[in-house]
Amino acid sequence: MRVGLGYDVHRLVENRDLILGGVKIPFELGLLGHSDADVLLHAIMDALLGAAGLGDIGKHFPDTDPRYKGISSMILLKHVGSLLEEKMYIINNIDATVIAQRPKLRPYMDEMEANIAEALGIERDQINLKATTEEGLGFTGTMQGISAQAICSISKALDFMADDRMTGGCAGCPGCSMH
Ligand code: MG
Repeated sequence: MRVGLGYDVHRLVENRDLILGGVKIPFELGLLGHSDADVLLHAIMDALLGAAGLGDIGKHFPDTDPRYKGISSMILLKHVGSLLEEKMYIINNIDATVIAQRPKLRPYMDEMEANIAEALGIERDQINLKATTEEGLGFTGTMQGISAQAICSISKALDFMADDRMTGGCAGCPGCSMH
């Protein structure tokens, strides 16, 4: 098993959409960035890439590349999922926290979790999202920006196959959802 950590910050400004976890949230300010500035998905992608030893999102999607200007981070997340798949990694779980003074994010969490699960081809219960304020302190507290932290655990698919062999493999097994 391997773990990865992700952290990201984007500045809150006027005349930008606020998009978190692939959900457009009605709010008077939005996050500034080269892409859609989905700070939550950026933290999750960095956690996944870190766990897989694949660097970070700056390496895969440089903000100097016009291809990524205004791009939905959902597309980038799907691509990160495929990079992990290529390396035969499966995702065990993702846990993430968005740090924002406002708006209240709880009403949007289910939709965010569903988006992330779909993009990565995993189950909803493998993702846990949380939101907190910093009690008016610091740059999130004064609404200069929003930050997000994420952690994930992944495993090599081969590890599961090895377990299979040790316990007699598929022969005699009543079947599982993987086959
Ligand atoms: Mg970012």
